[in-house]
Order: sequence, then structure tokens, then C-alpha cells
Amino acid sequence: MATVTRPVIPPRMPPREDLNPFHIAQLQFDMAAELLKLENGVRQILRVPRRILEVSLPVEMDNGQTKIFTGYRVQHNVARGPAKGGIRYHPNVSLDEVKALAAWMTWKTAAVNIPFGGGKGGVICDPKRMSKGEIERMTRRYAYEILPIIGPESDIPAPDVYTDAQTMAWIMDTYSIMVGHSVPGVVTGKPISLGGSEGRNEATSRGVVVIAEEACKQKKIPLRNASVAIQGFGNVGGIACRLFAERKAKIVAISDSRGGAYNARGIDPLRAQRYKDRTGTVVGMPGTSRITNDDLLTLKCDILVPSALENVITLANADQIKARIIVEAANGPTTPHADEILHRKGTYLVPDILANAGGVTVSYFEWVQNQQGYSWTESDVNAKLEAVMRRAFAEVAGSAQKHRTHLRHGAYALAVGRVAEATATRGLFP
Ligand code: NAD
Repeated sequence: MATVTRPVIPPRMPPREDLNPFHIAQLQFDMAAELLKLENGVRQILRVPRRILEVSLPVEMDNGQTKIFTGYRVQHNVARGPAKGGIRYHPNVSLDEVKALAAWMTWKTAAVNIPFGGGKGGVICDPKRMSKGEIERMTRRYAYEILPIIGPESDIPAPDVYTDAQTMAWIMDTYSIMVGHSVPGVVTGKPISLGGSEGRNEATSRGVVVIAEEACKQKKIPLRNASVAIQGFGNVGGIACRLFAERKAKIVAISDSRGGAYNARGIDPLRAQRYKDRTGTVVGMPGTSRITNDDLLTLKCDILVPSALENVITLANADQIKARIIVEAANGPTTPHADEILHRKGTYLVPDILANAGGVTVSYFEWVQNQQGYSWTESDVNAKLEAVMRRAFAEVAGSAQKHRTHLRHGAYALAVGRVAEATATRGLFP
């Protein structure tokens, strides 16, 4: 398949690296727009989010005091369908981060060709320091405040960092109470008992592993016995770890926000999960040595899977990356400057908007099942997911080949082209 022959020199690559995620998202878009020679009007539309909502959330804390949290919901584009994207709870959430994540969702849903647009939400908070009751009250107030712009036909939230199926259940319940009847399709990633889909919990990781298999085929590296390092042992990284091990790959390193664990002979994912459940971290797991998150990224391994946060592979460490393949399970882990260095080094990088699209794909399946009032079996969901991911990989690789560039630009050219076509065909209102 595609051998990359010519790096694209991006039109406006700034001389200094800028870690603002929204500036990065815009730069990635600009590079695709340039490749496609997009018409200027469509370019202007797609560079910015369509709608931004900022909300202040007064929440009664357990000590009786009222605390105000700031939250956002951003809808980047809805030309191809309702906005779709997760909700993040983290102290570092910012409007620019949510804008970037919303734009990446637009490109992701288009890259795998599902009929959704892109959106994202976030609340600036530290859920690790909040009780379950405080998180529930904050979530319900957030759901109430964003209620005017969400809905199964308009904008459908899902889990992201430090939110989960329970968070979605509270949002679905709050929305349903306000409109007077049950609306399961307002969120995805719900518990199965409320209309969640079989296979959704594992879907992002399952997609990551399917994409890793495709990347291994390209690089002629057998996945069996391939060494894998996973940064971020959370929902996505933890499950990916298990699924890689099921395919007999060797997990040599895992990490979380407190640090990492390393064993060249392999880490048992189930023991790691039990240890993490018991102690709250993977650090200090028996039979492993401690490493830092920075060390993990530069380990000699076949496959590196960043599964935590943005901007972990930058100008500062791209040169030292030794992995042969990078599969971006996290959103935005690699900066555009690092991209170019990795490309020159011959590292085969599968970009986030393709690699982690399994989650939104099964979210789409969940929404379809909710709209139909019918549920599919787990094997049905997994088979459909795999088909979407393998087709998308082939289309992205084909696009990269066509434009004689790497997979990130290939994925963006494919995705931006689809959204641009929908936007231009719908035309301007009024
Ligand atoms: P999560 O909260 O379940 O897990 C995040 C993990 O990252 C945790 O293990 C945490 O300890 C670790 N972490 C946090 N800060 C860190 C740091 N500074 N260094 C190293 N590790 C750190 O979240 P998740 O749902 O697994 O999401 C992880 C990434 O995958 C995010 O970028 C998210 O946007 C992306 N993603 C998630 C989904 C999904 O379905 N949940 C879908 C697509 C993409």
C-alpha cells in the first residue's frame, strides 16, 4: 500500500510550537484545506465552531457551601448530522480545549463516514476531589443548563475523560424529566439498563486494536508478540491493554497520572486492572519497575498507544520516540511539529480521528438502536464496528496515497472533503 514519498510542507506552520489545542486543530484543518484547495468561504465556515455555550453551575457541596463551576458545550459543525461528542471533567478544561475537541469530532465522524457532526463539552472541576453526590448535582445542573441545545436530533453527549456511564445516566434522567418522557437517545455510552449498547464500553479500545492490526499489516510487524506501551490506563487504555493481550501482543508498559509500570517480559492486564482498582494507580504493581510517563513515551517498542491527554508528543521528545507504530487512542496527543519529525523518521502514526473513532461509531449504533427501540447483540455490534474501522483505514490510507502524504493529512483530507461537500451542498442560510 501507500509508501509515503513527500512530506507536505504545511502552508502556515508557525516557526515555534504552539500547544494551544484549538490553534493546533485549526492548523491541521488549514493543511487539509490547502491540500484540497478548498474554496475560501467554506474554509472560513469550517475553521470555527458553529455554536459555543458557556454556563455557570452553582452546586451545593457536601459542606453546605455553594461552589460555582464553569462548563462549556461547543458544536463545531452539524452539516452531516447532529453534533456528537463527549463531556470531559478535568481541572485543565478550557474553552479552547473544548473547541479543539469539538472540531476533532467533526473530522472523526466524517473520517469513518457516520452521519454525525462534531461537538464536545467540558466542566472545569476536579472530580477526584468531589463526592459522588457533588458530581451528580453538578452533572444534573450542567445537563439542565445545556438542555436547550442538546437532544437526539441536535447534539448527543457521551463520556470522555473522568465521565462515565453513570454520568450519562444522570444527564439522560435530567433531560427526560424536563421534557416529560424518557429520551434514551439524548446521550450515548449509557448503562445497558437504560438503553446503552452492548459493546460500547469496549468500543474505542476495540477500534484502536483493529486499527493497530491494520497498521501492523502495513509495516509487516506481526501483532502476536509485538511489544506495546500504553500511556493512560483509563477507560480506553485499560481495555485496549486487555484486547492487545488477547491477541498475544506483549504489554511492556502502562501508566496513569501518577506514573508508569514497566516489565520487558510483559504485564498481565487483568492483574494490572485488579491492582489499579485496589490502589488507585498502576505505579508499584508487583513484578514491574517504575517509570515516568516521559520514559514510557520514548521506550523501544513496536507500538505506542497514547491514551491519556493532549500534547504528550511534541518537539521536546519526538526525536527520541523509538516506537515503530503510534496508534493515537487519545485525542490530540501529537503536535503538528512532532508529526513532521515522526514522519521524517519513518514512524508510522495512525491519527486520533481514525484510531479512536470506534467509540463514536458504536455511539452511533447505540443512537440508531434507541431510535429504533431495538437492541443488537454484542457480536453484531462488534462485527459492524470492525467493518467500519477496516473500511475507514483503507479509505484513509487511500487518501494519503492519493495526496502523497502521511496518514494524518490523508485522514484530514478525506474528512474535511466530506464535510466541505455537505456544507457547500446545503448552502448558506439565509
Ligand atoms: P479516562 O478518564 O478513563 O482515563 C484517562 C487516563 O489517563 C487515566 O488512567 C489517567 O490516570 C490518565 N492520565 C491523566 N492525566 C495523565 C497524565 N498527565 N499523564 C499520564 N496519564 C494521565 O479517560 P478515557 O475515556 O480513557 O479517555 C482517554 C483519552 O481517549 C482522551 O484523550 C479521550 O478524549 C480519548 N477518547 C476517549 C473515548 C471514549 O470512548 N472514552 C473515545 C475517543 C477518544
